[in-house]
Amino acid sequence: MSYRITLIPGDGIGPEVTAAARLVAEATGVAIEWETVEAGEKAIAATGSPLPDAVLDSIRRNRVALKGPITTPIGSGFRSVNVALRQQLDLYASVRPARAIAGEGTRFPETNLIVVREATEGLYSGIEHWVDRDHTAAETVSVITRKASDRIIRFAFELARREHRRHVTGVHKANIMKTTGALFQTAFREMASKYPEILADERLIDNMCMQLVKKPEEYDVIVTTNLFGDILSDLCAGLAGGLGVAPGALYGEGLAVFEPVHGSAPKYAGQDKADPVAEILCLELLLRYLDEKEASDRVFRAVWETIHEKKVVTYDLALPGYTMRPVPPSSCSAMAREIARKVPLVDLSEPLPAPLPPVASAIDPSLET
Ligand code: NAD
Repeated sequence: MSYRITLIPGDGIGPEVTAAARLVAEATGVAIEWETVEAGEKAIAATGSPLPDAVLDSIRRNRVALKGPITTPIGSGFRSVNVALRQQLDLYASVRPARAIAGEGTRFPETNLIVVREATEGLYSGIEHWVDRDHTAAETVSVITRKASDRIIRFAFELARREHRRHVTGVHKANIMKTTGALFQTAFREMASKYPEILADERLIDNMCMQLVKKPEEYDVIVTTNLFGDILSDLCAGLAGGLGVAPGALYGEGLAVFEPVHGSAPKYAGQDKADPVAEILCLELLLRYLDEKEASDRVFRAVWETIHEKKVVTYDLALPGYTMRPVPPSSCSAMAREIARKVPLVDLSEPLPAPLPPVASAIDPSLET
């Protein structure tokens, strides 16, 4: 079977990490024809638009895309390409697994959870304006709809069911946001009642942050609104070893775009220094989505072995504090070559020594809030 897949290299470190993922994809032997399209800074230079129609058309045609990060200037310049892409293609479910793949490199080796973030509405939509001419006050509009809330919450429960996870936590701020937060809370409670085999509980966003840092092993699937999900997924990436190893996926009806949690890290652009693992694990998720199970298992295993051997790892995984035995950092391309070299060699019959620890066996529904 061969596939045609849209590739968006993106800005900053994007071209380097997507090249790394392509190299690893080649090593799997899965026949992929990449259709490369530019969004972000290069697209502006070439077409005047950061998100040309050609990008949207390519994703609609191919149904699957691998994407690098795209820069969004702070305070001025173009609107976020990422927000526009999600809204225009209705990529409503942002799924970000946080697995403690970095082993000793993470302070929370038992982290193994999935953040499911609504990706099309809410505070993250950037609907805002100045209230006065002197720009001394500003207002943001947060629209939360029952339709989008039901859809993302159902997605989270279905994901939990499919992945044999037993616990879904709904995160909101219904005590303060008495309409938008309460709407999401009601939708969560009603949907949870349809999945009696799955433990459902709720946390207020502030408390959720504290709980995650104290005992991440007690959480399994977290579902929340757009901005809270943005913040929580970075927090969870930190728990699981850092932004350099955190992949993500965006799903819509029959469409999937795989992109890392991290941004374009402009300060490392062009230095061949960034960690390619997050983008390579996006490839792992993409292969799984295509039902190329063996190839996706090989990619995960090759990444895992490379990280745990600690011979060829980028700076973030080589730092003291991330390893008991600091090692000289390798380049992004060297680490990608090492992972690609391992892909055909890894032994899938050997169980990994607990790379993804099982979810905490005893979940107390009365966890403090
Ligand atoms: P960032 O994730 O780009 O970088 C934050 C820091 O994390 C970096 O300085 C670096 O120390 C570390 N880091 C990130 N990725 C890494 C990697 N692969 N390897 C090693 N270290 C890594 O976040 P930022 O600096 O806040 O954002 C930069 C730009 O990216 C902004 O314009 C932002 O809007 C954009 N952004 C895009 C996306 C996306 O395309 N989905 C996501 C987040 C941020």
